[in-house]
Amino acid sequence: MKKDTLLAHKGRNPGANHGVVNPPVYHASTIVYPTVAAMKAAQANRFGHGQVTYGRHGTPTTFALEDALAALEGGHRAATLPSGLAAICAALLAFVKQGDHVLMVDSVYGPSRNFAMTMLKNFGIETTFYDPMVGAGIAQMIRPNTRVVFTESPGSLTFEVQDVPAIAKAAHAAGAVVLMDNTWAGGYFFRPFEHGVDVSIHAATKYIVGHSDAMLGLVVANEQHFPAVKASVAGLGYCAGPDDVYLALRGLRTMGVRLRQHHETGLSLARWLQARPEVARVLHPALPGSTGHKFWKRDFTGASGLFGCILKPASETAVNAMLDGMKLFAMGYSWGGFESLILHTEPNKLRTAKPLVADGPVLRLHAGLEDPTDLIADLEAGFERLNRAR
Ligand SMILES: *Cc1c(COP(=O)(O)O)cnc(C)c1O
Repeated sequence: MKKDTLLAHKGRNPGANHGVVNPPVYHASTIVYPTVAAMKAAQANRFGHGQVTYGRHGTPTTFALEDALAALEGGHRAATLPSGLAAICAALLAFVKQGDHVLMVDSVYGPSRNFAMTMLKNFGIETTFYDPMVGAGIAQMIRPNTRVVFTESPGSLTFEVQDVPAIAKAAHAAGAVVLMDNTWAGGYFFRPFEHGVDVSIHAATKYIVGHSDAMLGLVVANEQHFPAVKASVAGLGYCAGPDDVYLALRGLRTMGVRLRQHHETGLSLARWLQARPEVARVLHPALPGSTGHKFWKRDFTGASGLFGCILKPASETAVNAMLDGMKLFAMGYSWGGFESLILHTEPNKLRTAKPLVADGPVLRLHAGLEDPTDLIADLEAGFERLNRAR
């Protein structure tokens, strides 16, 4: 089945549900058993696929979402968590112990870096950050105790596309596990397991939920690494509320069409920005000349609506004048919904291995599902305010 067919059909079974198209929302804590033998049998297969044993370990609603995303990405199974950050932390904790070493991309999502530099560090796990363009050169950074290589492509805020297959090959040669934050591509434009990733992590809060109304995380793993992921998620006590899981399932059904529109609108905004005199550089993986564009072309089948842009030097007052007056672009952090967003970012405050070369302010934009003509008019008026306030 092709991706859009999977999105429409996986994780639901009307025949087993009175013909109702969508799976029911199970609200559950205790699961009761008719006999001691039934209870023992269920416990023995506690984490078996589709096995309902306790609310925290999942219900048919949770399993429906997990099955659909695992099928979309070509992974073995998935686990659901209450947020994207919880998914990142539980996935890392599945594979590291005291004395281990982690390699993490320098352009990683800020809270992932923070988790490595605080919690992991306090537990005696060391993290080294690598240049997103390191490619096969990562082999030189791998130590005998390197257990995990953590990628995120394209990078948060700066959008470098990594050579994930080359990084994964070097990691596997040294016996390390490859984890990837695949949120940007929504599990739709990049198939991680075909490119050497062992564990794919999602802030489902973004494109999977897609409507800015729920927090959720998912971890998809291959067959070899799923048991460790599930043990970590279960051991840490993570589970998600059934109504949020339902919203994610509902979002997933339309994710293909939404993402194609985000791709189209994002690219038209990026091209328009590229031609503006106020703009120094647009950071969009699908634009030729952007960092890692050739890897995007080779490995991705599309671009989502999130990208960046470096302005020519401008005062903070001028940037604030631009942003404060936006009519359609709102300022907010969590992207992936139907609405457009704009944010002034400072990526170099986070980076330690390879800073972004930027003389001017850096913006992050999320192209929503509005008409691109209206979005461009909003940006154009913003540049007028910026120029007046210079
Ligand atoms: C937002 C985001 C997260 C965290 O997701 P939450 O659901 O907000 O916890 C993780 N990774 C990336 C790349 C994100 O953009």
